[in-house]
Amino acid sequence: MDRRRFIKLSALTGSSATLASCGNPEYHLIRFVPEDKLTPGIAVWKPSICPLCSAGCGLNVRVMDGEVEVLRDGKLGLTRMGLAKKLEGLPDHPINHGKLCTRGLAAAEITYHPDRVGHPLKRAAGPGARGDGKFEEISWDQAIGELVAKLDATDPKKLAMVMRRQPGLRAEFMRQFAMKFGAPEPIAFEVFGDDVVRRANELSFGSYQLPTLDLADARYVISFGADFLGTWNSPVAQNVAYGQMRQGRPGVRGKFVQIEYRMSQTGANADEWVPVRPGTEGVLALGLANVIMKSGARKAADAGRAGTLIEGWGEGLANYTPQEVEKKTGVPAARIERLAKEFAEQRPGVAFAAGAAVAQTNGLFNALAVNALQALVAEVHFMPGVQVARPRKIEDVKDAQVLLVDGANPVYASPQAAKVREAIAQIPYIVSFGIFIDETSVMADLILPDHSFLESWVQAMPESGARTAVVSMAGPVMQPLHETRSTPDVLIDVGKKLKKPVDLPWKSFEEMVKAGPLPARAQAERPLPRGEAGKFAEPQFDGNPNEYAFHFLPYPSQALLDGSLAHLPMLQELPDPLTSAVWSNCVEINTQTAEKLGIRQGDIVEVASTQGAIRVPAFPSPGIAPDVLAMPAGQGHENFTRYATGRGANPIKILAQITEPETGAVAWAATRVKIRKVADADGSLVLVAGSLTDYPPEHPHR
Ligand code: SF4
Repeated sequence: MDRRRFIKLSALTGSSATLASCGNPEYHLIRFVPEDKLTPGIAVWKPSICPLCSAGCGLNVRVMDGEVEVLRDGKLGLTRMGLAKKLEGLPDHPINHGKLCTRGLAAAEITYHPDRVGHPLKRAAGPGARGDGKFEEISWDQAIGELVAKLDATDPKKLAMVMRRQPGLRAEFMRQFAMKFGAPEPIAFEVFGDDVVRRANELSFGSYQLPTLDLADARYVISFGADFLGTWNSPVAQNVAYGQMRQGRPGVRGKFVQIEYRMSQTGANADEWVPVRPGTEGVLALGLANVIMKSGARKAADAGRAGTLIEGWGEGLANYTPQEVEKKTGVPAARIERLAKEFAEQRPGVAFAAGAAVAQTNGLFNALAVNALQALVAEVHFMPGVQVARPRKIEDVKDAQVLLVDGANPVYASPQAAKVREAIAQIPYIVSFGIFIDETSVMADLILPDHSFLESWVQAMPESGARTAVVSMAGPVMQPLHETRSTPDVLIDVGKKLKKPVDLPWKSFEEMVKAGPLPARAQAERPLPRGEAGKFAEPQFDGNPNEYAFHFLPYPSQALLDGSLAHLPMLQELPDPLTSAVWSNCVEINTQTAEKLGIRQGDIVEVASTQGAIRVPAFPSPGIAPDVLAMPAGQGHENFTRYATGRGANPIKILAQITEPETGAVAWAATRVKIRKVADADGSLVLVAGSLTDYPPEHPHR
């Protein structure tokens, strides 16, 4: 046994010793020999990368020595080691420029979470059903042996891999493993995905990726549904650039208009908030383009290829006069004329679409229309050298014999109607690399826990956020706390032990990261869409409007995103910027509508679609259209650590299985619902700021 592994049993000192003397066996902790050489009290700053979204912000991590509970050789004990104490933005990082969002600040909690999986687990033998949460600890040798035996006995084509969408070498590693094993490409899963925007950008501008918004230099910005200051794309980079647009140029303050039917955090920052009918955002964009072209400020040809995709563009969009557009969108013609005039005059202008505007059955049309408006006034920038994986449906796992899950939780984050839970449940063998038990990993036969990001080699290649290509890489900032292993290293080991070995060119993920990014692969050109993507089609909604009177808008939570961060107590504690809700969620309903229905703040209501119902407290708000109900995603977990389990409701569950036809992306804003009060307020809605009852009466929206 080497010195680092030597376990020294010793009497504990100070308060721990006092506790030990109480006779509680829980406090008879082992003290391990310190693993790091650090000067007590002196902080060291080490770089890393925030893993919580695909923006790839650079971190500066303050590391100091400290005492911590660790697992070594299957035993729990104490040791002194270098510990990450605080995360800050990495100064001069080209994406986040030294800043972080609140989610990034909370990311250290992942490493120290009390419910982390600290060693390999195997589903317990016995009569229990899959998903009952009963696991037993096994050794790494045993765990790797089991996986090798399973893969040896599996037809390579029957191996499915699901991971979260995170561009960079980790995704590339998984792809190479799958390819060399003979399996299909891994599925990059995300519920609030951007594949419609990427496809529209490919058609309009030739780039299958998200744009880098030119906010810093803009004088006029129109966002069609994008919560770009909150949760969409690269929020920190966009906040920095937005600050520059507003206050960074003496004497120039760019104007910002947000078009959406439920006020987001981004909308609350806008100079003008313009509510439109759901699914008509593209019509409004073409109405603005009609006025601009008619005024002679810009010509149809100025939009180039993006304009040619829109029916009637070359003739000046005769069907999109402000009067016609008012009928479809509900935005007054005079307002359309004024906004168009301002947008044409105050250049450079930036227009873009995301969020609910593209999460419709006609989402591709909306995105193409906004692209054409943008191209009419200014060019669009994309980060060079980026390669984004094409989408595959999560339902494709249904024929797999073995499923490997890396960082995704499709059972929680898929509509009930998609039957993802059922599809996964019938896969004979499931392996999760998760470091927490969640709704998907609880169904696993084997859990092989990864290190936390602070204990790992990390690498990121974001698709947006800067004008130049950005590749970030960093080593571990601290020793692993538990008996976890780097997932790519585990797969390298597994690959070597297979009867038909998977021959990867790296001995470890560290070696792969140090070798640098791989050359971009050539991607096949995709044909133009079937049908007429550039022609307006009425958005389709699931649910008869006579019975289901409201449009339902689930949206990524500012704190918890799609629910993947609900296990972090600091983020549960973060008040929602619009409702101030903490540790809970609610359904937002227009104040006047709520009054008509006799619904008051905190009352428990049932929100039902054709696919099911959820019960949740109500939150009357003036910042939402009268025929819309909105709800943040993130809560409603059945199994996701002590902090998230059994808290609130999951709006994704009741979405209909309705998609944008060209991309197959879930049209998550295309479900209709009904609402009824089922009980008086029961205290389950926790608001930091009290209520909105003192607000002045609202003006009619439309
Ligand atoms: S935007 Fe926030 S959550 Fe996303 S990578 Fe940056 S700091 Fe992390």
